[in-house]
Amino acid sequence: MTSHDAPGTALVTGASSGIGWEYATRLAARGRHLVLVARRAERLEALAEEASKAGAAGVETLVADLARPEDLARVAERVSGDDVDLLVNNAGINGYGPFAEVDADLLGRVLNVNVVALTALTRAAVPGMLARGRGAVINVASLLAFAGDLPPDRLPQRAVYAGSKGYAVTFTRTLAAELADAPVRVQVVCPGLTATEFHLGAGDTPVSGERRIHDEGGMPAADVVTASLAGLETGEVVCVPGLTEADAVARLAAAELDLRRGSGARMAPRYGRTDERAE
Ligand code: NDP
Repeated sequence: MTSHDAPGTALVTGASSGIGWEYATRLAARGRHLVLVARRAERLEALAEEASKAGAAGVETLVADLARPEDLARVAERVSGDDVDLLVNNAGINGYGPFAEVDADLLGRVLNVNVVALTALTRAAVPGMLARGRGAVINVASLLAFAGDLPPDRLPQRAVYAGSKGYAVTFTRTLAAELADAPVRVQVVCPGLTATEFHLGAGDTPVSGERRIHDEGGMPAADVVTASLAGLETGEVVCVPGLTEADAVARLAAAELDLRRGSGARMAPRYGRTDERAE
């Protein structure tokens, strides 16, 4: 396995704030060439300056709205470039709110950014990485991916967001299994509450002005990124930055194995008899 410290090109989506900004500055300090993607051009320019000072070999900014197919296609084209050996799919929006009331178009954009773009960019990146025998993809999900049956009490109302992050987790784990013998690593990062501007805005309207941090508290974004990059080096597929008992991931896999025992041809007895159902 090639070291991911090698100074190739890293493309980071959602680089204009929070976790993405931290990935960018950290990777800059490792001497990488960076491609920074987000909608807020001024923020990207400010980051480009900071990243250059931090040691980036070069910085490109790519202003794009990943919910728009034409913008996504431009970013996918850049990701498929033969210099890119690290893709960080970090951009995300939440669309929180009561499912029956939240704007249906906004939910579509949540899926476009959190699911469609993440998948399309990974698909654009992986073939070249496989051909060149090196590369990695980091997908930023959330611990809310595992909060399906918890009520929206203290947690946000989040059915579509949690579903999109559940997709990121299952997609990444399944792809990791598919690529287990390949020289390309994939990782899904599942932060808990993180101190960014994620909870400052409504819908997907970008927060204006200087970078800020929401009042909800949470882990510093820098620690999320430290955990992710350290986990990537050790080949950790599911990275939960705040999880002390890392074997919980193995226990999840064991519980899934139990569930898959339900894949047999016979219906479970608790549902009654098949012939009764037909009457
Ligand atoms: P921020 O709101 O600070 O950053 C989100 C980033 O995504 C911004 O750079 C934003 O840039 C970008 N983005 C949003 N919509 C689009 C779009 N349509 N096209 C391109 N870029 C877009 O939040 P975080 O840093 O906290 O979020 C990063 C990731 O971490 C997300 O995937 C989020 O779901 C996840 N996460 C966050 C947690 C938290 O508590 N903060 C907890 C768990 C996971 P711009 O507006 O300039 O386009």
